Amino acid sequence: MRITDIKATLVWPSSLFVRVSTDEGITGIGECSPMNCAAIKACIDHAMRPLLVGENPIEIDKVWNKLFFKTYKLGVQGIQPEAIAGIDIALWDILGKATRLPIHALLGGAYRDKFQLYASIGGGGHMRVADMVRAVEKKLAEGFKAFKIRMDWGVSRLDADPAKDLEMFLAVKSILNKDYPLGFDANNGYSVPTAIAQGRKFEAAGISHFEEPVPQYDYAGLKQVADALDVPVSAGEHEYTRWQIHDLITRGGVDIVQPDVVKCGGISEMRRIAVITELYNKAVLPHQTQPTVGHVASMHVCASIKNCTRPHEFTGRRPDLEALFTNYPAPEDGFMALPSGPGLGLEMDADAFKEIDEG
Ligand code: CA
Repeated sequence: MRITDIKATLVWPSSLFVRVSTDEGITGIGECSPMNCAAIKACIDHAMRPLLVGENPIEIDKVWNKLFFKTYKLGVQGIQPEAIAGIDIALWDILGKATRLPIHALLGGAYRDKFQLYASIGGGGHMRVADMVRAVEKKLAEGFKAFKIRMDWGVSRLDADPAKDLEMFLAVKSILNKDYPLGFDANNGYSVPTAIAQGRKFEAAGISHFEEPVPQYDYAGLKQVADALDVPVSAGEHEYTRWQIHDLITRGGVDIVQPDVVKCGGISEMRRIAVITELYNKAVLPHQTQPTVGHVASMHVCASIKNCTRPHEFTGRRPDLEALFTNYPAPEDGFMALPSGPGLGLEMDADAFKEIDEG
C-alpha cells in the first residue's frame, strides 16, 4: 500500500483534521492540536506532505521517524510533533481499516471498554464563584460524576487571586457528592509558595489531582510542590515527546503524567510515553480537549495503557463536528464507550466532508 495524498483541513474555529489517502482506497483520519492550527496546517502541507507521498502507510514507526528527524529544525516542542500527531493517528486508522481491527486491539488490547469522563470546565480565573457553580450544576444535570475546574488566567498570571480560587473550589466541592472526583487546574499560574499553601488547603477539602500548579518551564519548582504535598500533582500537556516526559518525571517529580495524543506526536509517541510512566510507577491521565477524532484517538490509546485508570478529560460536545461522522459515540450518563469498529471506529460522512472541503 502507498500513500497517495494527505489533506489537512481546518474547521472553524480550532479543529485541524488530517486525511491520508492510499492507492488501495483506504483513507485514514487524524487530528492535530487546536493551538495555532493554521501554522500546523502549513507545516503539514509544505514540510510533511512531500515526505509522505509514496510511503507505505502501515510502516508507522518508520514513517514517524522519517517525519520527526527530517523536520527536526521546525522545533520539536510544538508545531512539529503536533503535525506528526495528526498524521500518526491517520496512519493507525489506516492500519486498523486494512486489518479490520480497532486501534486498541492493534496496541495490545483494551483494559477498559468504556471511559468515565470528567467534565473539564475552564475560564475560572475570569468567572465569579457563583457562575462556576452554575456551570458545574449544568454538567451534573447531564450526568457527569467527575469534574475539574480550570483557571485559564492567560498571560497575566501569577498568584492572581488564590483566595477566590479556593472559595471557588470549596463552593464546587460543596455541591458534589463526596465521592465525585474534583480536580483543580492552576494553568501554570502560581508561584511555588502559593502553590504549596493552596495545595494544602485543597488536600484538606479533598481534591483528586492538582494540575500544573506552577509555570511549565519550572521543573525545579514543580518538584518542590510535588514533594511538599500528598495530593497527586500532575502536568504533561506542555511536554511533547518521550524525552520531555522523561525530564518532567525525573526533574519535575510529578505524580501523574498528562500527555495529549494530538500534541505529543500521536498514538505512537503516547505508547512510548506510557512505557516511561510505567518505568517510574506514574499514573497516566490524558490531557484532551478535542471533541471528535482527538478524543476517540485518546480513548483507543488510553484503553491500551494499564496505568491510565482515572476518568478521561471531556470539555464538551460539538454537534457540528460530530455530524462529520455517521456513528459518533455520544456520552451517556458521564461515560463514553470505546468504539469497536476498524481503526478509530469512526465512519466519515462523505457528504459532510465534501461540504467542509468546498468551504
Ligand atoms: Ca490543563
